[in-house]
Amino acid sequence: MANIYVDPVCSMPVSNEEHALIYPDQEIYFCSDFCKQKFRLQPDLYFTQTNLPQEQDDRHIAYFSMEIGLDSNMPTYSGGLGILAGDFLKSCADLKIPIIAVSLLYKKGYFNQHLDTLGNQQEIPVMWKPSLTMRPLATKAQIVISDIPVTIQAWQCDIIGNTGSHVPLILLDTDVAENQPWYRELTYYLYGGDQRYRLAQEIILGIGGVRMLRALGYNQLRHFHMNEGHSSLLTLELLQEQQKHHQVWDFNAVREQCIFTTHTPVPAGHDQFSYTLVKEVLGNYIVHDVLTMLGGDEFLNMTLLGLNSSKYTNGVAKKHGETSKQMFPHYPIDSITNGVYSVFWTCDSFKTLYDEYIPGWRKDPFTLRHTSKIPLQEIWDAHTKAKAALIHKIQAKTNRLLNLDVFTVGFARRATLYKRADLIFSQCEKLLEITRQAGPIQLVFAGKAHPKDTDGKEIIKRIYAIAEKLKKQITIIYLENYDIELGQLLTSGVDLWLNTPLRPLEASGTSGMKAAHNGVPSLSALDGWWLEGHLEGITGWSIGTTNIENQTEMDQKDAEDIYYKLGNLIIPMYYNSREKWIEVMKQTIAINASFFNTHRMVQQYVTNAYL
Ligand SMILES: *Cc1c(COP(=O)(O)O)cnc(C)c1O
Repeated sequence: MANIYVDPVCSMPVSNEEHALIYPDQEIYFCSDFCKQKFRLQPDLYFTQTNLPQEQDDRHIAYFSMEIGLDSNMPTYSGGLGILAGDFLKSCADLKIPIIAVSLLYKKGYFNQHLDTLGNQQEIPVMWKPSLTMRPLATKAQIVISDIPVTIQAWQCDIIGNTGSHVPLILLDTDVAENQPWYRELTYYLYGGDQRYRLAQEIILGIGGVRMLRALGYNQLRHFHMNEGHSSLLTLELLQEQQKHHQVWDFNAVREQCIFTTHTPVPAGHDQFSYTLVKEVLGNYIVHDVLTMLGGDEFLNMTLLGLNSSKYTNGVAKKHGETSKQMFPHYPIDSITNGVYSVFWTCDSFKTLYDEYIPGWRKDPFTLRHTSKIPLQEIWDAHTKAKAALIHKIQAKTNRLLNLDVFTVGFARRATLYKRADLIFSQCEKLLEITRQAGPIQLVFAGKAHPKDTDGKEIIKRIYAIAEKLKKQITIIYLENYDIELGQLLTSGVDLWLNTPLRPLEASGTSGMKAAHNGVPSLSALDGWWLEGHLEGITGWSIGTTNIENQTEMDQKDAEDIYYKLGNLIIPMYYNSREKWIEVMKQTIAINASFFNTHRMVQQYVTNAYL
């Protein structure tokens, strides 16, 4: 086959070598004599353009997140928020979005969870070597915390997209020789310290992050996207820049640049600091009246600061957008429903299947709607492989063996009260009756409790106790150390994904979207994303109606729903109408994976927020 060249003048492909010349010492080919003559007249113009691709320094969106989860080897995330940020950036890389991301390094990570035989959680620091996946940058930035100057250094890794484009990720690090000990440890732990530690981290992220980007030469930035309020202090740094250059408080100029995504559906979840602490830690960085004007009178509320300083704000699912509007009635709040990065959350056996029947899905996950072409048996085979992989992993981790033929329910999320992990056990007798009538089930749980969440830790112990009590009738396993890798195995390897948040506390939820990518339907409370993804009996099943005020009543009604649907609809379909079951799996992929992915989500951020 002939070589294909690119004409340096018109960029059209050239397949014959008829029109050629030597410049300066290499042979260059043209499509026509016309282009060759153009080149000859101005060789420098065309030669530099085609042969020396310009460095990409025209990135104009900066994305700030307190945590970013890319894979299990980088323990710089704790859960949903960080993984969402990671998935978002992976899609940005594929879609060539000119974005750069900033977070903190967390040298000792979140934590590894160890559970003893009673389910007591022990938190073990993670030692990882950033230098294995990241490169240190020479550039430094300076900030002041509690009147002490602090030097920040940075590490970079590049998220490479499937089109060859990349997104740089900058992780800030204060563990440098010239800093005092307490300050060196500020970028060690994610959610590890007290309020003072936390505020210092937010100063590093927000203020230090902007200074680092400037120092690195990113001078084209037009948008600063805050993924949750942890980075809201960046708005103050932008305000200070305006003040320095133009000697005015130009709030509008800052607002024009800022985008704020809120993830929290209740006021108690919003990050806030007392002004006494703020004064001590932030010092006289900015005029106090400006701070209270933007961040609230009584406390510095990071959500309020973000809202007041942004031209565009959004919640992370339609319902969450509305809940946020009720909390902040005077602000225009849009919603962009979350997604997951399709290629990452689809297990190997389904990847093979999609590659065969839906080629192109990796670049365009919307095409996952075409599952109708896939034979039922092949869906089932792919699922069985994923289930076997999960069973294998569970055996390796716990030395216990699940049954490949038994209906398996998965539940993995942060162990915290509102997620109600133990709701399915509220009437154990009923659950046992169902397994006797409809067929056997086995249950797999996983989830870490935040180090200070004592109620969350109690839930884990409660499930351990129930598992022990029911062990003769139902196999119940609680897996240690829920992380990205385990998340991949669980959301692909179980038969049903269970989700029981107390409404309206689940802003979006994403694990059910991961399950959908692997044909695993959900049985989920109607909250967050499920309000948009749920079609009863088609993509899964709902728990509860939307409007009950009283929690005890909601617990009871929701538990009844779980028992009724498991016993009468779900388990019977699984065992007795296998083809119908696999149809549900197919519809789950077609309807939900094709939509609840970060490619769609990124495109909405581009059109709604960035443009
Ligand atoms: C997806 C994921 C989460 C978030 O799941 P939710 O459904 O939003 O609770 C948390 N942790 C891990 C390890 C995950 O993979």
